Amino acid sequence: MIARIRNGLAMLSPALGYGLDIERGGTTAFLITVDYDTAQKADSEEAHIEGARLILDLSRRFEVPVTWAVCGERADRDISLFEEVKASLGELAYHTYSHRLIPQMSSEELQEDHRRWVALVGRSPTSLVFPHNEEGMFPELVRLGFKAFRPRAHRVGIPYASQGMVAVPPVTAFGPDTDYRVLLSYVGLCRRYGAVAHFWTHPCNAKRAQAEPLFRAAADFERKTLSQFALETQDRLEARSDGVARLGG
Ligand SMILES: [Zn+2]
Repeated sequence: MIARIRNGLAMLSPALGYGLDIERGGTTAFLITVDYDTAQKADSEEAHIEGARLILDLSRRFEVPVTWAVCGERADRDISLFEEVKASLGELAYHTYSHRLIPQMSSEELQEDHRRWVALVGRSPTSLVFPHNEEGMFPELVRLGFKAFRPRAHRVGIPYASQGMVAVPPVTAFGPDTDYRVLLSYVGLCRRYGAVAHFWTHPCNAKRAQAEPLFRAAADFERKTLSQFALETQDRLEARSDGVARLGG
């Protein structure tokens, strides 16, 4: 167990390096993104439904707004479950309609995919998670109204301004094999160093053993959706030449 926690802390150490640039004791934020999308290897319809219901329940109980990165095709397959997601506390982020890689789309294809997503969801998204984290088409996405995205975790938990948007890297993904004590260690370090605690998972990977302690720990933070966080920090991030967050000021 100690070895696992040690490994977990080693994973977070880049954030602590960047964390030196952040004022201690500053405002910290807690974000959670859930990739509501097409089948993963371990996915099954049953696990997807169970995990989505669990997250809906925890979001309600602990008043944590969830950023659901919605793939339109997936949502279309079970509209009644998606209606529950739509009615929940939080935000619906764009994960494309088709789950095609955004850099491989033409501008027209992206606009058409976006149009289908908006028709299904009934609102215009302002944040996104790129399918398979393959980033691209930023000028088009900014024109479509996007303000924030979840990038690959190359700057762990430290938000920055990027290509007209705010990027909020996740601390880590969690799933059935994640030790909840490691997750809580991350949360504690984020709080101590003023890093943003941004976790992500798929519904099929969300199990109570990890998700419940994590949602409970969010009580110590300002809980934000990706768009809320972006709107509140954009000016401060853009004002800084290196784009690294200083949230305490
Ligand atoms: Zn996906």
